[in-house]
Amino acid sequence: TGSLTVKDLAERMGVKSAEIIKQLMFLGIMATINQEIDVETAVVVAEEMGFRVEIKERELDPEELLELEPEEDEPEKLQSRPPVVTVLGHVDHGKTSLLDAIRDAKVTATEAGGITQHIGAYQVKYQQKRITFLDTPGHEAFTAMRARGARITDVAILVVAADDGVKPQTVEAINHAKAAGVPIIVAINKIDKPDANPDRVKQQLTEHGLVAEEWGGDTICVPVSALQKTGLDELLEMILLVAEMNELKANPFRSARGTVIESQLDKGRGPVVTVLVENGTVEVGDFLVAGSAFCRVRAMIDHKGRRVKKAGPSAPVEVLGFSEVPQAGERFYEVPEEKVARQIALKRQERKRQQELKASGRISLEDVFSRI
Ligand code: GDP
Ligand code: MG
Repeated sequence: TGSLTVKDLAERMGVKSAEIIKQLMFLGIMATINQEIDVETAVVVAEEMGFRVEIKERELDPEELLELEPEEDEPEKLQSRPPVVTVLGHVDHGKTSLLDAIRDAKVTATEAGGITQHIGAYQVKYQQKRITFLDTPGHEAFTAMRARGARITDVAILVVAADDGVKPQTVEAINHAKAAGVPIIVAINKIDKPDANPDRVKQQLTEHGLVAEEWGGDTICVPVSALQKTGLDELLEMILLVAEMNELKANPFRSARGTVIESQLDKGRGPVVTVLVENGTVEVGDFLVAGSAFCRVRAMIDHKGRRVKKAGPSAPVEVLGFSEVPQAGERFYEVPEEKVARQIALKRQERKRQQELKASGRISLEDVFSRI
């Protein structure tokens, strides 16, 4: 297949070359304006920038290879999507307990499977609306995603124990959320404890720029007890309220993209990869690329252990069919053809191998010969 320069691609997309270079950086490719990039890479870059890409004749002049059509997600195709929520806070303040409490209270096991699965995320339905909770360690998730230029969280729940108050990791979490531009809802946890002091928590939060609504600010604070499962409904209501204010929308009809949130190698099933769909819809049979892994989606399983054929915006789903195990935090994209998926994956494998060789200070015989 052919290639085209960064500049060509930028011109054809009607964007600045710097934008393309930035996207390439997120893919781990350092490029200059006149550098040639291959068609597969161009597809990924263009899709990430919101273009619909169609590969035309492969034999043609590289200039003619791609049909680039800005995908503005026509308003009539946009649908509201569930908010994606991450739980952050100081160690032992109750993040895991809160996530478990919400799951236990709100996720009803299905007749078929009967068991909810731990796939790194789950979805609850509250007042006929869905909310996706990321069940992965918040800080890590945030850091990995941010490093890749992605923002996968819509709302951050900051858990602060009412008996312990604001601690270093609380402050860290506030900074993470602020840097990512994610709205914060404070869950003041452990209010069942005799020495709980919610007012002290609110006081401490003001020192970090979070002023509670009831004190004239705009930070929503909800007192909860993960242990006694109180305050959960109020918390979910506030999440929905914040989500509504932010008018979260996505286009389920476009090609899918999103983020890998967990991955592992299963002896029987091979790579098992939990992804969070951001836009578009993943369907069984689709072709995906994530890092140097490619995938023809063989099967998908939701957090309730049910096999599903489709996963739309904000859905967390376990995907089977990956060629290798992509890292958590890696972006995934649907590509139009299996051939493209394989080629992108191969190129990235090759690049990874070369980087490893470089890092180890060794070079291969081929490298030596090709330089002569
Ligand atoms: P994490 O480190 O933030 O995930 O905190 P955990 O969820 O592991 O909770 C730390 C400890 O606090 C555990 O012993 C929990 O049982 C306890 N805990 C969590 N939530 C509550 C609560 O609402 N009330 C009380 N009394 N204890 C809680
Ligand atoms: Mg925990």
